[in-house]
Amino acid sequence: MLWFRNDLRVHDNPALDHALAQGDKQAIYLATPEQWQKHNQAPIKTDFILRHLQLLSEQLLQLGISLTIIDVGDFQGQIDYLREHAIKQNKAVIANSEIEINERDRDKKLQQLGCDLSLFCADVIVPHGKVVNLSSDMYKVFTPFKKSWLRYVRDNGFSYIYRYPKNKNSSLNSSSNSNSKQEHNCVLQLAALRKNLTTKDSSHWPLIDSVEANVIGNFLSDKISDYNQHRDIPSIKGTSGFSPYLAIGALSPRYLLVLIMQRYPDILISNDSDEFTWLNELIWREFYRHLLWHFPKLCKSENFREKYNALPWPNNPKRLQAWQQGKTGYPIVDAAMRQLNTTGWMHNRLRMIVASFLTKHLLIDWRLGEKYFSEQLIDCDLAANNGGWQWSAGTGCDAQPYFRVFNPISQSQKFDPNGDFIRKYLPELKEVPIKHLHFPHQYLAQQNLTCYWPAIVDHKLARLAALEFYKTNS
Ligand SMILES: Cc1cc2nc3c(=O)[nH]c(=O)nc-3n(C[C@H](O)[C@H](O)[C@H](O)COP(=O)(O)OP(=O)(O)OC[C@H]3O[C@@H](n4cnc5c(N)ncnc54)[C@H](O)[C@@H]3O)c2cc1C
Repeated sequence: MLWFRNDLRVHDNPALDHALAQGDKQAIYLATPEQWQKHNQAPIKTDFILRHLQLLSEQLLQLGISLTIIDVGDFQGQIDYLREHAIKQNKAVIANSEIEINERDRDKKLQQLGCDLSLFCADVIVPHGKVVNLSSDMYKVFTPFKKSWLRYVRDNGFSYIYRYPKNKNSSLNSSSNSNSKQEHNCVLQLAALRKNLTTKDSSHWPLIDSVEANVIGNFLSDKISDYNQHRDIPSIKGTSGFSPYLAIGALSPRYLLVLIMQRYPDILISNDSDEFTWLNELIWREFYRHLLWHFPKLCKSENFREKYNALPWPNNPKRLQAWQQGKTGYPIVDAAMRQLNTTGWMHNRLRMIVASFLTKHLLIDWRLGEKYFSEQLIDCDLAANNGGWQWSAGTGCDAQPYFRVFNPISQSQKFDPNGDFIRKYLPELKEVPIKHLHFPHQYLAQQNLTCYWPAIVDHKLARLAALEFYKTNS
C-alpha cells in the first residue's frame, strides 16, 4: 500500500518508485483536517494541497495507480485506518519519511503495532543525519554545515529518480472507462473533503506541472543570473517562488539540483557565482530540516538556545494585533504584513524585517509570530519557519545576535529605494514624496493628513529597550 503524505509528486518520489517496482496499483492519502487545524495550517495552503491532490491522482492514473483520498481526522485516525486496512490484512505500507515529531511518533507507533512500514527519504537532497561533524554531531553553524554538505554531495552524489509524468493528452488509456471512473471518484472524494475544510483560493499559484513546464527552466537558465542583485528587492520578482511547491512536496529539491548542475556543472566547486547564491538558499533549507531532525525539541516550540528560556516576553496583545493587521506606522512593516495577509506569501527580506520588528521592537515572543505566519503562509514549513523566527529573535541556531536590531526605516530605504513596494500595498501613502515615504509621520502632520497610523513605537527607544530586555534576562 503506497501512502502519500507530504510528497505530492510523481517525479523523484522514491516510495512511488518502490511501489511501482512491486506492481502496486493502489495508493492512499489520509487527510487529517484536525491535525491541520492544530498546526495552524493556512486555508490557502489547504486549498493548494487539495488542488495538487487532484493533479497527483491524474498523474498516478497514467502510471496505473489509483489514489483514494480519505478524511481520517487526525494522526490517530491514520493509525486506526492502517490498523484495519494494512496491519490486519498483512499488507506492507510504503511511504516517504516526515521529519516533524508528531509525524515521527505516529510512524513509530505504527511500527510498534506491527505495521510493516518502509520509509524513504524524499524531502532533502542529502539524507538527514549524513552531514555531521567529526564527533558525529549536527553542525550548529551554517557555514561549516554548508561546506560539509557540499563535500558530501561531491563525494557521494545523491539519489534521484527520473519519472516525469506523461503529458495528460498523450497518456495511455487516459480516456478508458476505468480511468474516467477513478478520476470521477477522486473528484467526489476531494469535494467531500473540501466541505469540512476552511480554504482560501490559491489559484494565483499555478499547479506544479505548469510551473515545471513554464517557470523552473526559465528561472534556472535566465533569472538566476540576476538573483544576487534582485533577491533582496521586494518590488522585483527576483526570487524563484518555489517555496509553496517545496513545502507540500510537489517539487523535489533533488530535481532542482539536477537541473542546476546540468546548467552550471561547476556549481558544487565554484561558490562565488550568482547561481551559487541561489543554491546557498536551498542549502539553508537543508540546514533547517537537518536541524529539526536532530533536535525534535524545535517542533515543541522550544528555544534552540536555552539561555533565552527565561525571557519574560511582555506580549502586548494590542501591539500584536497592530503588527498582524499592518498598522504599526512603519510603512515597510505594514506593507509586508499586507502582502502576507492578501497573498499568503511574503518576500524573504520582509520576513526578516517584520520578524525582527515583532520580537525586538515590540517584545513579542517569536512563537506568536511563528504561529501567525503558519496561519497565513501558503509555503509554511515548520523547519524553515521555526528556523527563520528563531534566527530573527536571536534564540536560534546560528542566529542573528540579539544586539543586531534591524532599523525598519533604513531597511526600507535600502531595499525599497523608490517606494514601489510600499506604494503597492499602502495606497494611502501613494502621494507621499519618496523622501518622506519610509517614515511619513512628520510630513503627514505638516500636510494635516490623517490617512496613516501613528508609529507604534519609537525606533531608537525600542532598540534600547530590546538590548536591555535581552541583556538582563539571559
Ligand atoms: C521569519 C521567517 C519565516 C520563514 N518561514 C518560511 C516558511 O514557513 N517556509 C519556507 O519555505 N521558508 C520560510 N522562510 C524562508 C524564506 O523566506 C522563504 O523560503 C523564501 O522567501 C521563499 O521564496 P522563494 O521560493 O522565492 O525563495 P528563493 O530565494 O528562490 O530560494 C529558493 C528556495 O530556498 C529555500 N529558502 C530560501 N531562503 C530560505 C531560508 N532563509 N531558510 C530556509 N529555506 C530557504 C526555499 O525553499 C526557497 O523556495 C522564512 C524566513 C523567515 C525570516
